[in-house]
Amino acid sequence: MAHCPECEALIDLDNDEVAEGELVSCPECSVDLEVISTNPVELRLAEDEELEEDEDDEDEEDLLDEDDEDDDDDE
Ligand SMILES: [Zn+2]
Repeated sequence: MAHCPECEALIDLDNDEVAEGELVSCPECSVDLEVISTNPVELRLAEDEELEEDEDDEDEEDLLDEDDEDDDDDE
């Protein structure tokens, strides 16, 4: 059992039915929810990648030359 963080509806989820990271939808408001914990089941609003908000800070001092050319050999 978990509560929808959006509309507070009780969502009937057993902790052995869901896995952490799984996406479910609220039956009440149909929002997408992500399971962040299974014992107890906790849900949070799933982030919609398409609605990603760009934080455009006006004082963005991004003048550093990031030279990240390390040889990272991760196989
Ligand atoms: Zn809901």
